[in-house]
Parts: sequence; C-alpha cells; structure tokens
Amino acid sequence: MPDYSQQIRRRRTFAIISHPDAGKTTLTEKLLLYGGAITQAGTVKGKKSSRHAVSDWMEIEKQRGISVTSSVLQFEYGDCCINILDTPGHQDFSEDTYRTLMAADSAVMVIDAAKGVEPQTRKLFKVCLLRDIPIFTFINKMDREARDPFELCEEIEEELGIGTCPINWPIGSGKSFKGVYDRKKRDILAFSATGGAKRVQATEAGLDDPHLVDMLGQELYQTLCDDVELLDGAGDDFDMELVRHGKLSPVFFGSALTNFGVEPFLEQFLQMTTPPLPRTTVEGDIDPFDPEFSAFVFKIQANMNRAHRDRLAFMRICSGKFSKGMEVLHVQQGKKIKLAQPQQMMAQERAIVDEAYAGDIIGVFDPGIFSIGDTVCAPSKKVRFSSIPTFAPEHFARVRQVDTLKRKQFVKGMDQIAQEGAIQIFHEPYSGMEEVIVGVVGTLQFDVLEYRLKNEYGVDIRMERLPYQSLRWIESEIERPDDLHLSTDTKLVQDYRDRYLLLFTSEWNVRWSLEHNKGLELAEFGMNES
Ligand code: GDP
Repeated sequence: MPDYSQQIRRRRTFAIISHPDAGKTTLTEKLLLYGGAITQAGTVKGKKSSRHAVSDWMEIEKQRGISVTSSVLQFEYGDCCINILDTPGHQDFSEDTYRTLMAADSAVMVIDAAKGVEPQTRKLFKVCLLRDIPIFTFINKMDREARDPFELCEEIEEELGIGTCPINWPIGSGKSFKGVYDRKKRDILAFSATGGAKRVQATEAGLDDPHLVDMLGQELYQTLCDDVELLDGAGDDFDMELVRHGKLSPVFFGSALTNFGVEPFLEQFLQMTTPPLPRTTVEGDIDPFDPEFSAFVFKIQANMNRAHRDRLAFMRICSGKFSKGMEVLHVQQGKKIKLAQPQQMMAQERAIVDEAYAGDIIGVFDPGIFSIGDTVCAPSKKVRFSSIPTFAPEHFARVRQVDTLKRKQFVKGMDQIAQEGAIQIFHEPYSGMEEVIVGVVGTLQFDVLEYRLKNEYGVDIRMERLPYQSLRWIESEIERPDDLHLSTDTKLVQDYRDRYLLLFTSEWNVRWSLEHNKGLELAEFGMNES
C-alpha cells in the first residue's frame, strides 16, 4: 500500500458542536490530553483567564465568552491522526458552523446533562443534518446533578429527530455518580472524584461482580440492573448504516472536567467514525485515495495574528497528498499558484506543515485571492468541488462610516469581512459605497462587524437597523430597475457583482410585487451563488 494511502486511512476529521457552556472546550482539551498533545489540562485555555481557549482568537469572543470563529487542531492518538474542528457555539454563527461541517466527516454534539437539548443545540443540529454525516453525542457533566438519562435520550430523539443508541449508561449523577456501564463489554467503569487535570484511573467490574452492590449501594445497583434490562429489551440495536447517515446517534455519558469517560469515548468514537470520505465535484466524486491533490476552501479568517495582519484561507484536503512548495491550480481563477506558508494548528501552536493528506485541514496565507468554496488541485486534475451554500441573511442594517476621511479603510474592512463570509453587502443602485446595506444571518454578527471595523481597521460606523426580513434574486431581465412597481417597504438593491435583488418586509410583499410587475421572476436567495 502506498505510504500516502496509509496516512489517509488513519485520518479522522470531525467537528464538535454544542450550546455555549455545555463543555466543548473542556472536552476538546481532554481529547488533546489523551492524545499527548498537551500534558496538563488547562493549557488550551488562555493565560489571562481560564475561560478562554486558544481557539478563541478574537477579543470579542473573550468579552462575550463565546466562540465566534472556529479553529482546527490536530493530534495523534494510537494509530489515528485526528483533526478536530471547533465550531462557534452561538446560533448566530450557524453559517460558520455549516461551513466547518463541510470540512468534517462526522460531528460530536456535546450536551449538558442537566440542561439537555438547548436552543442553540437545536439550530446547530439542524445545520448538521443538512450534511448527512454521522453525529455522536457526548452527554457531559455527569459529575453534577443530571436529568434522567432515558429522558435525555428521548429529548434528543424528539427535539432533534435523530435516533439514539447509548453506548454506555450512567450510574447515578452528581454526588452519587459512580461511573458508567459499558453496554458492549458489559462492565462498569468506576468514577473516582479525584480526577481532574491528569488522566483518570479507571476501575472495571462486571455487572455480576459480587462487590458491585457494595460499590454502588443497593439502590443504584438495582436501578442499573433495571435500566440495562430496559435498554437491552428496547431492541434499539446499533446499526452502523444508520449512524453513517446521521439517522442514529451513538450516545456516551461522561464528565469532561473530571476526565471521566473521555478516553473510552475517544476510543470507541475512533472505531465508529469514518476515515475521509469521497467528496462531490461538478465532475463526479473524488476518492480520497486518488493520488492527485485536491482541496477546497471552507473558511477565510483575517487578522488571526494582529501582529502580522495576516489572512488565512483554511482548506480541507479531499484527495492525495500535499507537499510544501507544491504548485497547484486555483481552479476558480484559472491560475497556477504556490500555497504560501501552509500551516496547521498543533495543539497550541501554529506550525508550518511539510506534508498533509486527505482529511487534513491546512491554513494557507491568503493575499486576497481566495473565496469560500474555491477549489485548489493538482494542475492536471482540474476538478471543481460543489460550491458551499450561502445562508440567506435574515437581518439587515444600513451602515456608514462616521468619519468620511476614513472611506478607504471602511471599504477595505467591509470588503474583507464580506469575503470571509461573515456578512453580505448590498448597495442601492447608483449609490456606490457611501453607505451600504449589510445582511447577516444572526444579529451578533452586527456586533462583530462593528467591533472588527473599529479594532482592525480603525473605523467607527453608524448602524441603522432596517425592517427587512427576506430577500430574493431578480431572475428576469430588467433594463430599467426604476420602472419596477414596488411598495414603499420593498427595496431594490444590488450585490457586489451588481446583480439585482429585492428586500422584503414580509411574504405578503413578495406576492404583491409579483402581482404588480408582469414578467417579474424572483428566485429564493441562497444556497448557491456561483
Ligand atoms: P463550551 O462553551 O461548550 O466550550 O464550554 P466549556 O468547556 O468552556 O465549559 C463551560 C463550563 O462548564 C466551564 O466552567 C467548565 O469548567 C464547566 N464544565 C465543563 N465540563 C464539565 C464537567 O464535566 N463537569 C462539570 N462539573 N463542569 C464542567
């Protein structure tokens, strides 16, 4: 077997999603700990405050305590080379989560055992379902008072519409948390509260172990036996086919903070999740083991390092092997380029990579040539990955700079932030860039825009929220847009390529416009731009 095939076969690339505070950062950190990428938990978090991870780059994330952007970390565990994609926990950044999921082969959903499914889990989960990838559930914080595990599974099934199959089962919770029962091995992993920064010492015992009653106490022992009987009787057998298509989620219980259940989860997850999968291109599916290199850009992030004012384009390698200095074809621009400063995040540090394989994520220096969804491949290959859908903005605001002398910085900042896919910019016909209409998926993106313009570009802006709720492309040819007969609360705008769109305050207005303009054809915004 060629060396690169072996390398690809051992890759596991997955994203972690959760409602903020469910424990995504803590779990990520513990996974790194087991992979030996860090030796002491707590190192992923920033020095100044224990609340922030390395993956939280931007100041605003620190202020709000949320992950705005997502980052990638690579580490080794056993024979596997693991790429973890972190995602923003807040639903206002669900588009970013979606793009990140495009680069992943599976997802891990972290749920707080006391809270169950939370609003943002719901929204992010819907995004997950669009991708048809395996979804694993880690029910966290079992060392705290938790809800009934059956109830939690039922809630996941009902609220998220995915089947659940517990791989292990908790024994008690909070002060009486004793450990988890492994359903396959039919033994118990006992919890000791002394866990923490270092690896947890596990004690194993079978369900028929005579010491078990002493260890758990009569009541918990009986509950466990009853639960196990119920679970085994329920016949919700593990079906890998259903897991592969995101119809059944293997469920694990544990406590990331005390390290409990993290390593068994990682081991079983790595067995169940898949190595890199084939990817769809306009020309047909690309096999990851195809020796020729191909990748697509799923994320662009500016100013990750303020000192360098750099901008990185993150790409997911879909086939073959990447070597530093290699010449590749940037398909959308039809140009051969060298990918400059290819980097990977290895635990806390960014490192220049010499080689990377299908399944890996690399960040390359972007002098402003990449857009989200772009394909990069071996010059002889010339394929184009299916484009990454754009979410329709749901909130709009008129934005202008306060200091007119800063126009250049304003335009540059707006353009760059739009290129990163954080906002969408529209302008009114013939109005130029004096003031622009910005569309976003979640209102927190307005705050990020304002903050970044000020901090990264030195521009203060004034923002006026607009009442529009949806937009449609104008599909029919229009010679004189002024001739359109529109209600006063409908607005005609153009995008960055001067294509015409209409902004509406309601569905009723959409119908009104169609009725009053013969031949007008509108298309749903979205999904596909290129
Ligand atoms: P994120 O917002 O999902 O990344 O959540 P964090 O990993 O930052 O965790 C949020 C809070 O929950 C932090 O204070 C953690 O220390 C705490 N936490 C995370 N996992 C556990 C756990 O298993 N048990 C307990 N008791 N607390 C936890």
